[in-house]
Amino acid sequence: MPTAQSPPKLNKASVRKTDSASKKAYNPTAPDRVREILKRLDERYPKATCALTHKSAWELLVATILSAQCTDATVNKVTPELFRKYPTPQAMAALKPEQLEPEIRPTGFFRNKSKSLVGAAKGVVEEFGGKVPGSMDELLSLPGVARKTANVVLGTWFRKAVGVVVDTHVHRISRRLELTRSEDARNIEQDLMKVIPHEKWIEYSHQIIHHGRALCVARKPKCADCPLENLCHAADKTWSTVEIHNNAKP
Ligand code: SF4
Repeated sequence: MPTAQSPPKLNKASVRKTDSASKKAYNPTAPDRVREILKRLDERYPKATCALTHKSAWELLVATILSAQCTDATVNKVTPELFRKYPTPQAMAALKPEQLEPEIRPTGFFRNKSKSLVGAAKGVVEEFGGKVPGSMDELLSLPGVARKTANVVLGTWFRKAVGVVVDTHVHRISRRLELTRSEDARNIEQDLMKVIPHEKWIEYSHQIIHHGRALCVARKPKCADCPLENLCHAADKTWSTVEIHNNAKP
């Protein structure tokens, strides 16, 4: 018999049951949780959109190719002069990649990017009559265009939600929020397409990219200021009001 002072004996079976029940209760991709994340992102970043300066699908395609491993701010410094000199796909298609290299050097990886830009320009001119195509398959047929670039152009210019843009911010933060456990961009995109409602695919990426720049930075995220804080169980949080779900870490 337990005395008044001694704690009641716990039935091991019921502890195991309660423990596994509480683990089961937390589902990071539960629709309610995802809906709440999206709602708070809407409130914090109501007008989030693509930060790459562009006036046409062609300019957006060029800027997106240049933005690989480079900040949008640097791309936006380079593109005004680039578009002034070579305003059309035809003008860029007539170049040798080496001629483009000095123009885009500040964006890094300029040799590969020059080849991609001239190749994409030639593809647009020769295969699509000088107009940037508006489908995933057609965009992917252009040299230097992978799913991320195609999704940016389709989502931002054509307003077509064919997939989800997965850049470095979307990759990092979607994992912190446990909306995916994948490391590979293609798998992350597939995971996000399953848990995020279709009508939010375009906005989600824009908002998360803003969030990644403003608060959920790669090192030392600013969790104390984050509107998602009490929904987030990321292992590298810098401040927390919630118990970490160890079993749910990405
Ligand atoms: S709480 Fe921290 S880690 Fe989680 S989303 Fe916000 S800033 Fe990122």
